[in-house]
Amino acid sequence: MVPCPRVAYFCMEYGLDPAFAIYAGGLGVLAGDHMKSAGDLHLPVTGIGLMWDEGYTRQVIGVGGVIEDQYPKTVRDVVRRLDVRIEVAVRGKKVPLRAWKVDRYLSSNLYLLEPEREEDRWITQRLYGGGVEDRLAQEIELGVGGVRLLNALGEKTEVFHFNEGHAVFAGLELLRQQRFGGTTLSERIDRLRAHVVFTTHTPVPAGNEVHDLDLMRKMDADLGFTDAELEVIGGDPFSMTIAGLRLARIANGVAELHGETAREMWKHVDGAAPIISVTNGVHQPTWQDARIRAALVPDKPRERQDAELWAAHQQMKSELLAEIARKTGAHFALDRLLIGFARRAAAYKRADLILGDPHAIERLFDQGVQIVYSGKAHPRDLAGKALVGRLLEAARRNARHIAFLENYDLRIGALMTRGADVWLNNPRRPLEASGTSGMKAAMNGVPNLSVLDGWWPEGCVHGVTGWKIGDPDPDDDAFDEKDTARADKRDRDLLYQVLDDDVLPAYAQRARWLDLMRASIAMSQWRFSSDRQVEDYVAKVYLPR
Ligand SMILES: *Cc1c(COP(=O)(O)O)cnc(C)c1O
Repeated sequence: MVPCPRVAYFCMEYGLDPAFAIYAGGLGVLAGDHMKSAGDLHLPVTGIGLMWDEGYTRQVIGVGGVIEDQYPKTVRDVVRRLDVRIEVAVRGKKVPLRAWKVDRYLSSNLYLLEPEREEDRWITQRLYGGGVEDRLAQEIELGVGGVRLLNALGEKTEVFHFNEGHAVFAGLELLRQQRFGGTTLSERIDRLRAHVVFTTHTPVPAGNEVHDLDLMRKMDADLGFTDAELEVIGGDPFSMTIAGLRLARIANGVAELHGETAREMWKHVDGAAPIISVTNGVHQPTWQDARIRAALVPDKPRERQDAELWAAHQQMKSELLAEIARKTGAHFALDRLLIGFARRAAAYKRADLILGDPHAIERLFDQGVQIVYSGKAHPRDLAGKALVGRLLEAARRNARHIAFLENYDLRIGALMTRGADVWLNNPRRPLEASGTSGMKAAMNGVPNLSVLDGWWPEGCVHGVTGWKIGDPDPDDDAFDEKDTARADKRDRDLLYQVLDDDVLPAYAQRARWLDLMRASIAMSQWRFSSDRQVEDYVAKVYLPR
């Protein structure tokens, strides 16, 4: 492996362990896995994040199916106070910050920032909580505070990695410091760019944050930029993604297809970094059950491996069924196909696609098909909550075939991606940038049944590692409503067809299914691991070319 420059990795959230809830979803899980692998590989990557007083919602289903959001305090027994003091400005006033180091779960350095004074704690009170002013204050703390922390610690950072636009204030602070020299703004940007890399995560335009320049001025981080200068960097209104693209020497999407989508999406931005792709991965020691690894150690005869692989799978499935029974009272069958689907409740992910045709779903139920769902809606996302409500209602009406597990988190994610038989993913293409839950499933011998979106075009060998749901239609327009209704119907019909023609017949033959499980594991355990991901970041993104 080539030597890696010293990297500082900035992210709003880190998914390290269910007990340390400073993450919301995919972005955080990715960042947690990235830092874990960087540590395993002894790479000089330092993580910067925020010490959230409360994590994202703990979302439970109360009596009568009411969705309740709870916000337990972050348990701080895994962090240690650092002996440094730094300061940022928010709304023009000084905010002293302290820093914590995460002492468990990973061997790389991860530092979390928090306001020193009680009166400033509103900033990190709740992950993705508050309004747009809170968000900007959080981003100032992460970016400006992060750079100042690295200075205070004497870190000789060579590459600043902005994981998503949230970190762009780090670039503004580096410009202010004239860290890499230059006098005019454009000269300073040119010099800075050699040291900044940027990862974009969302092909959904609304997911890309923009701020009015008025508000940027009001939230005054005291960095000394005029409106005109800010506009040069991020446009007006100020787009965090455009700023990230302009301040970086290279940018990347998180799967090959997402790279293409992002290049198309941002091609109008002048002065933007070239966008390549680095496909996401997941931390194998975290996500692959040890029983899978034990079953497949190479010195065993194939029949024994098969027997142990099947036994391990059935055991993990029993564990999931026990959780379903405990949480919902529903008793699912161990010997019937169990489809898993767990995602954030966003409309484009189409959680209820499979439920759309009453006759077809009845027919699947008659063949014994069972579906286990999980997912959270953002606390203020009413459409997302309505979707969860529809899934709960479907589970209530079909208690033998559909279950919904509340509070999708790292623990439920691990249980489900180990214990389901197949992992279903049917987003509206190309809106799923990557999707990493399917990689966790694949590593546990749970084949994917998925639309060819995100990472799946890279992993799918139809009928071997899992199945595709149809072929992409180049005429689809994911943003045209008439078009999406047509695409939804087509994809739903294709989904039923592949279940009837391929998945159910394969499940009926143990030897055939074991081949799928093996192929799924073999395909995923290196190519979709975060070790491979981090090595790709080093070779393609971190190393200057
Ligand atoms: C893996 C994981 C995700 C990301 O998976 P997607 O396939 O992108 O939805 C989100 N939340 C949790 C709890 C996870 O474990």
